[in-house]
Amino acid sequence: MDPILSLKDVSILYPGDQTDIRAVRNVSLDVAQGETLGLVGESGSGKSSLAAAMLGLLPAGARIKGSVHFEDHEMTALSEADLRQLRGSAIASIAQDPFTALNPVLRIGSQMVAFQHWHTDLSKSERWTRACNMLEKVGLSDPETRMRQFPHQLSGGSRQRVAIGAALLAEPRLLIADEPTTALDATTEAQILAIMRDAKSELTGATIFITHDISVVSRVCDRVAVLYAGELMETGPVSEVLSNPQHPYTKALLECDPARIDEPTRTLPTIPGTVPPPTAPRVGCTFAPRCPAAFDRCRTERPALAACGENWKSACHLVTA
Ligand code: SF4
Repeated sequence: MDPILSLKDVSILYPGDQTDIRAVRNVSLDVAQGETLGLVGESGSGKSSLAAAMLGLLPAGARIKGSVHFEDHEMTALSEADLRQLRGSAIASIAQDPFTALNPVLRIGSQMVAFQHWHTDLSKSERWTRACNMLEKVGLSDPETRMRQFPHQLSGGSRQRVAIGAALLAEPRLLIADEPTTALDATTEAQILAIMRDAKSELTGATIFITHDISVVSRVCDRVAVLYAGELMETGPVSEVLSNPQHPYTKALLECDPARIDEPTRTLPTIPGTVPPPTAPRVGCTFAPRCPAAFDRCRTERPALAACGENWKSACHLVTA
């Protein structure tokens, strides 16, 4: 099946004082119809820049190289007006902070009815009923009352449910969720992840779930792409990558996952060292200074993404050795 979204050799650069800041480096990824892809990485991995590129929302001055192809559209060549139209119809997003999606001075109901104006021919009262049904679907009790409330009258978790419901009302063919549970407590996070999982049946297209938390990926995603310092380190089916990671960085992320530590008194491990700044020159493997398995070749030769299973690739010399 043709991918619904295809990134080919994408690099994203921001203007810096002395030199360009290269936040994303030569990333290629495909996302299939019906698939949920988890984009995972530490802060500074480039995942939010990639999300902005997929939404056509890179800030002024940013430059993108390579191709971002969504359905029949080459996103990098579209005008701002065409991008806006796509974002209003085929592509929707859910942000970490639902306040960014909701107008604080308008009641939830007015916003949910207005969101549908561009997507349906329904009357206002039909849009109201559809919005109430959607709020119920995303787990909000008494939707009629919620529709008459302002965003600040809802809890953070309820606001995120509204934002997810609003995104689903557009029936997008690509849904991009950027850390939608990061600001929530563990119980609310579990509920929102369950809603995201159930939302798959509402969607005809694909979902990209961006997170720094690899345990979240196992709960909602079919495939995972692990980013480090702007580079793609490993990508493959969630069930295989998380049970038998091939890249030392993926292994390290999993070892630091609190959900996998069964002894409550054990100190949570961290990955020693820091992510290199995006302006630092790159020689050899970018993860080498932090990699416990690094050997001489790693410091001089950059590893290419190599197949290590069906639809599974890892950028590590150990895979090709
Ligand atoms: Fe570690 Fe070398 Fe593999 Fe890089 S290429 S992840 S340094 S073993």
